[in-house]
Amino acid sequence: MKRRRPSDSTRIAHAGEGGERHHGTVSVPVYHTSTVLFRDLAALQQGDAPGAVVYGRKGTPTTFALQDAIAALEGDGASIVTPSGLSAITTALTALLGNGDHLLMVDSVYGPTRLFCDRVLRRFGVDTTYYAAGEDLRGLLRDTTRAVFLEAPGSLTFEMQDIPGVAAAARARGALTLIDNTWATPLYCKPLSLGVDVSIQSVTKYIGGHSDLMMGAITATGEPFEIIRDTAFRLGLCAGPDDCMLALRGLRTLPVRLRQHGATARVLIDWLRARPEVRRVLYPAQEDDPGHRLWRRDFSGATGLFGVVLEPVATERLAAFVDGLRYFGIGYSWGGFESLVLPSLSPPLRTAAPWNEDGPLLRFHAGLEDPDDLVDDLERGFARLSAGG
Ligand SMILES: *Cc1c(COP(=O)(O)O)cnc(C)c1O
Repeated sequence: MKRRRPSDSTRIAHAGEGGERHHGTVSVPVYHTSTVLFRDLAALQQGDAPGAVVYGRKGTPTTFALQDAIAALEGDGASIVTPSGLSAITTALTALLGNGDHLLMVDSVYGPTRLFCDRVLRRFGVDTTYYAAGEDLRGLLRDTTRAVFLEAPGSLTFEMQDIPGVAAAARARGALTLIDNTWATPLYCKPLSLGVDVSIQSVTKYIGGHSDLMMGAITATGEPFEIIRDTAFRLGLCAGPDDCMLALRGLRTLPVRLRQHGATARVLIDWLRARPEVRRVLYPAQEDDPGHRLWRRDFSGATGLFGVVLEPVATERLAAFVDGLRYFGIGYSWGGFESLVLPSLSPPLRTAAPWNEDGPLLRFHAGLEDPDDLVDDLERGFARLSAGG
């Protein structure tokens, strides 16, 4: 009988598992090492076969198991892990761009990615142009455009992008495409199958899933992958062994966690949309969201992170709302089991498509608490916001 093709949940349960080479342990053990001792001169000379353990910085069986599992989930190519999500982004850009090259960067990108382009890449002779999500790229692509960077949905403002459309337009002009796929995770979006060359994850978020580690991953095929892997090595990047084990552990439960994060987000969003204090919810899985059609076409699910634009309100009232929340912590790095709220301190930095909302912008992460308790918490928050208002 022909075996059916395993689904992602099945693959994640088994990718990079321990097995006989590790005394039958289900999880690959954590190897702490810098030095690796060679049996003899011949073994030393054999050196660097793929997957060989030769030096701590080049990875251990724990690192390789995690990388294999992430690549299995991305559905194509090979992966490397780096010490943070931001380092995955900066390594991929550094690997693929050089003096005289032009980069097209989406305007709604994660803020630190923008600052890397403006403050570091610029010093190395790379010219960055910001394009608005949805903008026609044909007029922006130059002969020197070497790469186009996407992020969908965008950070803070959640704009969707036509991922295969951008990938095709870039390819037609000989440019590579990279995407920050952190919101969807490789479970809900497979960029390489949509024509993108490089898929980047902040593993810190949903793959880690417990707000206790920093890590990034880069997945690609062919020559771009070889250049990225070589550059990461030249830069001296490596992820810590305990963090690799934690990330692998997080990955195992990603499908069940994401189902719950997404379901709770829907409960919160449906409730928030009916509130008079809420002007708009930003989440592409809503049917009336401007990015809904693209989300439906290219993604297989929605996670727990969304934006809310409130009606204009005094800062003290907003503080009363946020400060008194019991279950929503005020914090940056989302994707863990706990709920979060993050009011934007200033309007999101946009240069291609200005942000015009005058009410406060908040980012919510729906954690794994009971949704009814979260709604109750928000309801009390709005009562504080209105009190004395
Ligand atoms: C958090 C985040 C990053 C950076 O990841 P770190 O692991 O914190 O360096 C990159 N992109 C997006 C979309 C993020 O949310």
